[in-house]
Amino acid sequence: MRIKKRKRQNRAVKFYTACCGFRKPFRVFCCGTFVHHLVDRRITPADHVLSQLLGSPVKLFTTRCIIAELKRLGPSYTEALDAARSLVIARCGHEEIKGGDACIRDLIGKTNAEHFFLATTDYGLREKFREVPNTPIIYASENAVMLESPSAFQRSYVKNMEEKRSHLSSLEDKILNRRKFNEENSDTEKEGTEDQQTIKKKKVRKGLEVKDKVQFKRKRAKGPNPLSCLKKKKRENTSTPPKDGNGNSGKKRNRKRTRSKSNKSKQASQAEN
Ligand SMILES: [Zn+2]
Repeated sequence: MRIKKRKRQNRAVKFYTACCGFRKPFRVFCCGTFVHHLVDRRITPADHVLSQLLGSPVKLFTTRCIIAELKRLGPSYTEALDAARSLVIARCGHEEIKGGDACIRDLIGKTNAEHFFLATTDYGLREKFREVPNTPIIYASENAVMLESPSAFQRSYVKNMEEKRSHLSSLEDKILNRRKFNEENSDTEKEGTEDQQTIKKKKVRKGLEVKDKVQFKRKRAKGPNPLSCLKKKKRENTSTPPKDGNGNSGKKRNRKRTRSKSNKSKQASQAEN
């Protein structure tokens, strides 16, 4: 049975560290009745007992309001009062001292942002704080200290938070899918519900237009090069025929040559003459 309880409590600690952001050393908030119970039953030293329970070093906290409450309870609580005074005093922000329950409620608030383990022997308080998310509850039995496993409400709260996170990512997936559809079919746009999506679509379209224009310009720029190739071909054609056209028809070249020859012949004839 002890091993089973131990495993259950370790699982609870893992739940609060993994899902609720609790970090070591754990902060344990001790209410007046809990301190009194530990002192009365000699479950001491308290920090050692609680660190063994949670498997981690702990810091024990209380408030001025709780110390004042212990003082009000009379001489039977003097030992508990001294023990409470040795704890770290958390700032509850109450200028006028309040009752212990009200002070704890204000300190932990709606979501226990400070990540306190709440240590109490008051069953009513335990019931109330089972309905507060991220609030582990430590209670004391006759001779031992125990950690409650997370309540159904706390588990469902964590699940809901996780689902919300996953829901956001699914929305992002939808947006991505719509983007893909828009890229494939830019004309079909009937579902324009969200402004951000429409803005993103427009951005995608603009990007596509710009890319197309740039591509066309590049193609046009590539065009002139073949013209230069054609010119080269013409030159080649002009240069090749004379080799082949020496025998077939080289009137022009013949003329040129004849001219050159005639000139040369004239020059030669002139020289001869
Ligand atoms: Zn207070």
